[in-house]
Amino acid sequence: MKSHDAIVVGGGLVGSAVAFGLAEKGLHVAVLDEGDVAFRASRGNFGLVWVQSKGDGMQAYAEWTGRSADLWPGFADTLSGELGVDIGYRKPGGLHLCLSEKELEDRKALLHRMHNQAGEGGYDCRVLDRAEVADMVPGIGEAVVGATYGPHDGHANPLYLLRALHNGLSLRGADYRPNARVERIARDGSAYAVHTATERLVAPKVVLAAGLGSRRLGPDIGLDVPVAPLKGQILVTERCPQRFAMPTAFVRQTEEGSYLLGDSHEDVGFDVTSSVDVIGQIAARAVRSFPFLNDVRVVRGWGALRIMTPDGFPVYDESETHPGAYSVSCHSGVTLAAAHALGLAPAIADDRFRETFAAFTARRFDVSQA
Ligand SMILES: Cc1cc2nc3c(=O)[nH]c(=O)nc-3n(C[C@H](O)[C@H](O)[C@H](O)COP(=O)(O)OP(=O)(O)OC[C@H]3O[C@@H](n4cnc5c(N)ncnc54)[C@H](O)[C@@H]3O)c2cc1C
Repeated sequence: MKSHDAIVVGGGLVGSAVAFGLAEKGLHVAVLDEGDVAFRASRGNFGLVWVQSKGDGMQAYAEWTGRSADLWPGFADTLSGELGVDIGYRKPGGLHLCLSEKELEDRKALLHRMHNQAGEGGYDCRVLDRAEVADMVPGIGEAVVGATYGPHDGHANPLYLLRALHNGLSLRGADYRPNARVERIARDGSAYAVHTATERLVAPKVVLAAGLGSRRLGPDIGLDVPVAPLKGQILVTERCPQRFAMPTAFVRQTEEGSYLLGDSHEDVGFDVTSSVDVIGQIAARAVRSFPFLNDVRVVRGWGALRIMTPDGFPVYDESETHPGAYSVSCHSGVTLAAAHALGLAPAIADDRFRETFAAFTARRFDVSQA
């Protein structure tokens, strides 16, 4: 039996960022990850660090996303410096292209709501007409009628991000264990015993960050983690000369030159297969946005599962019945990585989680509380 200050269940982007932050605060951390058999959104996402549309209906989430975007530049410098590899974080702003007047009107309405919701805090995003968009990104198609522009948006290489977090964990003395599926979590005096098939680890704090796997384990520590899968498919093209640095919501060019084309929202359960019809829709939208993509070869595609809560906002909880037991789930684990490491983890380490993240509790879905 080995003792740690905290055990994090799940070594994807969320668990790794939280564990990184805990280790940075000096805690001796163990990270247990199920491994390749699990559904892993962290290895199949689009890589946006996206602010402009986050938090429509929940100002606390809009502010939290903004805070993460503010923390990202320093966070990326630390991670890239430690890894010795640029994790590809760039913050040139981002565009959501609109391909019809209806889409543009819907985006305008969204921005209006976000402005009103933000109040005096302000909301930094604006509508662009077609000519302004053409000035910002070359090669837009006739179908583009306008866009919304968020100056705080950016993108990163999500696989390098994950690798850099794991590297950072190692440098901070954390104990990262792959292929360690947590079977159950039980009380052990005032601490928690986390059981895998072969081991039993004990710590006074346990953080459930197992993505879609959190739902099963939550009840062990008095937590409801209401997450469900939402499939997204993505296409990758061959590498091309650098053409534009600014990411758009559905097309972005990576540092290596490939275009990522995305991404669908499919409520189809635990299914990660690619489908020709959806791939066709993704490719068609990308070509309408940027006709030059018609001559670029797609080389790969995949499906992956988002971790969705009922309202799409994060669920952060400390158990009422099991003090020191937490859950952390969200569908924007790239965007929020900096905030998870440098904002959320310190709140766990310093025992001020409950008051800091009260707005994000899953108890908001409990109708008897309403
Ligand atoms: C198509 C798509 C596009 C996306 N685009 C973006 C984007 O542009 N920007 C953005 O910010 N976010 C994006 N996301 C969301 C982002 O990928 C996720 O929010 C993030 O990866 C979630 O990380 P996670 O660690 O919670 O989950 P996961 O990556 O699923 O990791 C969970 C981990 O828990 C482990 N696990 C599960 N059960 C157990 C168990 N019992 N014991 C031990 N370990 C366990 C698994 O092995 C896994 O490694 C996208 C997602 C998808 C699917």
